[in-house]
Amino acid sequence: MSIQTIMVIGAGQMGSGIAQVAASAGRRVLWHDLSMPLIDKGMLVISNQLDRNVAKGRLTEEAKVSILSRIQLTGAIEEAAQVDLVIEAISENMAWKTALFQKLDGICPSHVILATNTSSLPITEIAAATTRPSQVIGMHFMNPVPVMPLIEIIRGLETSQHVFDAIFQLSKELGKTPVEVQDFPGFVSNRILMPMINEAIFTVYEGVATVEAVDTVMKLGMNHPMGPLELADFIGLDTCLSIMEILHEGFKDSKYRPCPLLRKYVKSGRLGRKSGQGFYTYSS
Ligand code: NAD
Repeated sequence: MSIQTIMVIGAGQMGSGIAQVAASAGRRVLWHDLSMPLIDKGMLVISNQLDRNVAKGRLTEEAKVSILSRIQLTGAIEEAAQVDLVIEAISENMAWKTALFQKLDGICPSHVILATNTSSLPITEIAAATTRPSQVIGMHFMNPVPVMPLIEIIRGLETSQHVFDAIFQLSKELGKTPVEVQDFPGFVSNRILMPMINEAIFTVYEGVATVEAVDTVMKLGMNHPMGPLELADFIGLDTCLSIMEILHEGFKDSKYRPCPLLRKYVKSGRLGRKSGQGFYTYSS
């Protein structure tokens, strides 16, 4: 199955990256969010990113114009009826995602594949909200999408081999390295990464070391390119908390309990880079 037209839903940091990568790989992209100003802002992010690539000589001005021309912004989700694939990248909230998939199931013809970029929610449960569970799959891109080569491709219980093969092939055509993963909480990436980030937060919470000290230990001692707390701010503290809660709920194991300090920050609106304040402070 050839996938040429893709609707990306969600204009946050992941949706912008996915729209950019899909358009760069020659796909026509319809880009939707509940909020049109957010999509306009997302388009500016893509345009600035492409400008930087032009300045560095990695992209020609003509190629940039052509990539941007393939992205069409839309406030009408009904336009999902014309695409081959929908990639959902809205906030990490099961009730919102299942409501969206139900709606998409009513709008899209039966051959359309519905993919979710969820970091940790069960694909099988999202698929069960539709009448086409065999056409639903996880496509877990990494942040920042234009830079990171990995996509975890997650099979729901009912995902068909045909759909899996089509998405695996598309991921390669997007210039990524797909890795097959089964549908269990946190998949592979976040099952390993998030407990490390949560433990780093506990280390600060218990007064073992400062934020800067924890990050320095992990960068200089473990050769991590970014400290875990800087990475948590980059991912979004609300997203980190949601993933820890899903691991905790999914495995019913206390080793996944979210640190109270993470909860407190999220409740106060400190969400990391996107809100200007997390473990570090960011200027706009
Ligand atoms: P974000 O908070 O930056 O953006 C979410 C966007 O979704 C917002 O623009 C919001 O307006 C929009 N939205 C919410 N509900 C909507 C709806 N019903 N219809 C249309 N738009 C809606 O979030 P993000 O960091 O881009 O994450 C998006 C998804 O990608 C989440 O599932 C997250 O777990 C996953 N993910 C995040 C990262 C990361 O590092 N942040 C990495 C991989 C995967």
